[in-house]
Amino acid sequence: MGNFYTDNKDIKFHLDHPLMKKIVDLKERNYTQAQEFEEAPKDFEDAIDNYDRVLEIVGEICADVVNENAESVDEEGPKVVDGHVKYARGTRQNLDVINQAGLNGISLPRKYNGLNFPIVPFIMAAEMVARADAGLQNIWGLQDCAETINEFATEEQRMKYLPRVSAGETCAMDLTEPDAGSDLQAVQLKATLDEKTGIWYLNGVKRFITNGDGHISLVLARSEEGTNDARGLSMFIYDRNSDAVTVRRIENKLGIKGSPTCELVFKDAPAELVGDRKMGLIKYVMALMNAARLGIGGQSVGIAEAAYREGLSYAKSRKQFGRPIIEFPAMYEMLSNMEAKLHGIRTILYETARFVDVYKTYYFVSKERALDKDEKAEMKEYEKLANIYTPLQKLFASEYANEITYDALQIHGGSGFTKDYPIQRYVRDARITNIYEGTSQLQVVAAIRGVTTGQYLKYIREVYETSAIAPEQEYLKDILKEMATELENATDCVTAVGNTEYTDFHARRLVEIAGYTIIGHLLLIDAQRDEVYAKSADIFIKYGQAKVAAHTAFIRNFNPDDLGKYKKA
Ligand SMILES: Cc1cc2nc3c(=O)[nH]c(=O)nc-3n(C[C@H](O)[C@H](O)[C@H](O)COP(=O)(O)OP(=O)(O)OC[C@H]3O[C@@H](n4cnc5c(N)ncnc54)[C@H](O)[C@@H]3O)c2cc1C
Repeated sequence: MGNFYTDNKDIKFHLDHPLMKKIVDLKERNYTQAQEFEEAPKDFEDAIDNYDRVLEIVGEICADVVNENAESVDEEGPKVVDGHVKYARGTRQNLDVINQAGLNGISLPRKYNGLNFPIVPFIMAAEMVARADAGLQNIWGLQDCAETINEFATEEQRMKYLPRVSAGETCAMDLTEPDAGSDLQAVQLKATLDEKTGIWYLNGVKRFITNGDGHISLVLARSEEGTNDARGLSMFIYDRNSDAVTVRRIENKLGIKGSPTCELVFKDAPAELVGDRKMGLIKYVMALMNAARLGIGGQSVGIAEAAYREGLSYAKSRKQFGRPIIEFPAMYEMLSNMEAKLHGIRTILYETARFVDVYKTYYFVSKERALDKDEKAEMKEYEKLANIYTPLQKLFASEYANEITYDALQIHGGSGFTKDYPIQRYVRDARITNIYEGTSQLQVVAAIRGVTTGQYLKYIREVYETSAIAPEQEYLKDILKEMATELENATDCVTAVGNTEYTDFHARRLVEIAGYTIIGHLLLIDAQRDEVYAKSADIFIKYGQAKVAAHTAFIRNFNPDDLGKYKKA
């Protein structure tokens, strides 16, 4: 009997973060919910106990059921039968066990039979599911679509759909089309309103839709005839019970094989408008994708955790030249860097999730009562932080999941290249994380404003640099201070040229400098709460310092006139 929660103290460490008190107090409306719902916690400790209990159940199911099924799911994959998806046998068993344990509607209000959990423990559960089977995490994690329904749909729609999600019905997020990938403004799937009945009908094709045959789908469609940009797009709910969407095919993919990636044909599919017309991409998809990007962060950390453990265990058991390979500097350096990166992406993941929790919870409270001046200011501040941290965490978590799985396979030598070990699956599964929910390049596009407007730097200096650090770790704080200065100087150096294309050219370097500095600070702060993280803080900060030096040297030595040498078209 394994348990992916109790065998990993890092998750509990983040659940015990000091900001959780504020989040839980807000989420439980100062525990007044206990008067209405018997299962609601009576105080903060009761709430944390409850999260602990549920995460322990998730951890047990992940270790004993989902992880055990992962290999067969990877082999078998889903199929299309009569225009619908049939999951692999192991996936069906996994979902049955998850449903029986009541692990759906995790973050939905109790009124809709949800558990009313903050985003933080929801992402912790997602991380564990992904450690066991990254493809299943896609299917199960799509319950975050319900968050968007909760936020923007009418009460009638919420009552109609949300209890179904809590009961285990699955969701899908239908955005991408053959000619609309990174650029969702190009979406063409047509939405037509029947004026007599007030029902919308959808016609067209969607591509690459995860769990496209899910029970409840959020669909981005063009509702305004004659438009070609974002302002002509609206968001709709499609209910599979209407049976007007066919799965034309499932992609034959490199990884996350248990997750059906569907091409869908909509033929006069009846649908309900969510919120206001024309706000589909501008408002609702942005909210939907920000939640989904946290989910991919959780998925990346889960895969990285699985890969790190495999790498470590193999390096301890494999002997060459008469010694366990873990004794060779090349191996232990790799493993220590992997561990530091893993701790780093986990800490920025939960920092971001906390920011999202605070502002979203204030948003829902504001629908019940007027917020006071301080609360309003706090909501705004955390929303800004959530917006700038979300792309940064998605970028680093997904890129590091790839690096960690790559290194873990290398540690396995030739055995890593065979199907005898799960590491090849982790490498394949990790590869999608920096592509979907916005590629890494698009995360940089989203994050660069946080650099050029000085928002990251402001937060680093106002909050992280003023945090109390143990005297013996002051040297790390000094390095981080230098890295923040490098961020400022490199940004000035790039923006002084006054050319947007030039800023775009260096954007990835600048965003990464911000990321190394922020993750370094977070690890150092973690090390103040638990000395276990002191080693990772030291290793990561010095690793980041070297990366920053390379990036800043490139920027400083770059002649803006040389941009032309790189152009291919
Ligand atoms: C397994 C899988 C599951 C998926 N699940 C879903 C889902 O559930 N719902 C859904 O709607 N979609 C889904 N997608 C689609 C996914 O989100 C897109 O594939 C992704 O956003 C990239 O779009 P694209 O494939 O069209 O690539 P393109 O947009 O054509 O990009 C190609 C390359 O160009 C780069 N590029 C594009 N624009 C820019 C720019 N402005 N600046 C710099 N570089 C740029 C990209 O980074 C990329 O490297 C899924 C895809 C896969 C493969």
